[in-house]
Amino acid sequence: MRHPVLRLSDQALRSADQAIGFLMQQAVENADCISLAAGLVDEQTLPVDLVRETVGKVLAESGSGSRLLQYGTTQGPEPLRRVFREYLAELEQRTDRLSDLPLSQLFLTTGSQQLLALLAQALFNPGDICLVAAPTYFVFLGVLQAVGADIVPVTADGFGMCPAALRETLSRLEQEGRLSRVRLVYVVSDFENPSGVSVSAERRPQLLSLAREFSRESRIFLLEDAAYRELRYDGVSPASIWSFDRDRETVILAQTFSKSFSPGIRVGLGVVPQSLVKPLSDLKGNEDFESAHLNQHVVARALKDRTYHQHVQRVRDNYRIKRDAMLEAADREFGGLPGVSWYRPEGGMYVWMRLPDSVPTGFQSAMFRRATQVDKVMYVPGELCYPQDWPARPRSEMRLSFGVQSPDGIREGMRRLASSVRWALET
Ligand code: PMP
Repeated sequence: MRHPVLRLSDQALRSADQAIGFLMQQAVENADCISLAAGLVDEQTLPVDLVRETVGKVLAESGSGSRLLQYGTTQGPEPLRRVFREYLAELEQRTDRLSDLPLSQLFLTTGSQQLLALLAQALFNPGDICLVAAPTYFVFLGVLQAVGADIVPVTADGFGMCPAALRETLSRLEQEGRLSRVRLVYVVSDFENPSGVSVSAERRPQLLSLAREFSRESRIFLLEDAAYRELRYDGVSPASIWSFDRDRETVILAQTFSKSFSPGIRVGLGVVPQSLVKPLSDLKGNEDFESAHLNQHVVARALKDRTYHQHVQRVRDNYRIKRDAMLEAADREFGGLPGVSWYRPEGGMYVWMRLPDSVPTGFQSAMFRRATQVDKVMYVPGELCYPQDWPARPRSEMRLSFGVQSPDGIREGMRRLASSVRWALET
């Protein structure tokens, strides 16, 4: 039988062919590869016993347990938001426990991805502008593309997004009469996915001031994506950008328990300006009424019991070893190769590697084919982490993850990758 024409929305059409889908398909097709591509967390670190015990505890404590299996409230139950606020106060080193932060500004979300997606829906009509660091988290680029946003890259270096470049870009947009279309500056503040870079302490208030200064014709928000904030292996954490936002009307803070605890549990924590509470709550209500109620109780209980804290410490110890294994392997395998360089992250899950311009790394490149089909190793092509239509996007970079592999898997993966790179440099 012939079916009538399928008519999809513009948003569905703009969401087609996202890199993430292709990447997952590659992972399935090349299952015999060592994956340095997957941004998954290490299964060895997942808190199976802790979750089993904590689910038992929270169900037992709520009498029959049925309350936790019932609907809750869109932003998450207030008593739980209080627990999450206390935890945020710990991260922010606020001895006043952030008691001046109204609980109404807190959202418990389905991972932090949901807040990113809701925000894109709340702020963007097609043609509205989002400024992003170049490179940046490619899934958010897909989200922006889906809502028809105009994505404008801003230069970033080893200290994060450059304030001078942000000023220049905003001034240029103003001269072009497009400042009123700017809605958001997106910054991954800690151990950026993909570059591993954190925004320096000095730049944090500067980026915020620029968003404020240029909020002349319409409000420019700054989205601080702090997904990897808790995964620091050396050094000290700078204060969040959010902490400098005294009236709490510019920065949206997106955090998650995916990296530090469990991505499958899908619990994220957002702090949003008062002016965005209602629009985001309306959108979220339409989408899912609320995020998984039971899961929020589990994370809150682990926070209260401080079993969460012990767990995160183990996670950090595990990733520190793997980060070191990857950097040592990089020194050993890539050390002498001309024009190859990489960044040494203090945390997170990624090492960002640059090859000479003569070696493109994209899905269609000889390098990608060689790596996946001959040497049997996968990476994320760096070009995915830039806006698709940006003519200047670099094409010879790779995101390497030390998330899923064991230290031995990382060493072997890096050995294989170096073999592909040597081959590509010689051909
Ligand atoms: N932000 C960044 C920078 C990420 O890397 C990720 C996950 N890869 C997310 C947000 C979203 O993760 P989740 O929804 O699991 O919190």
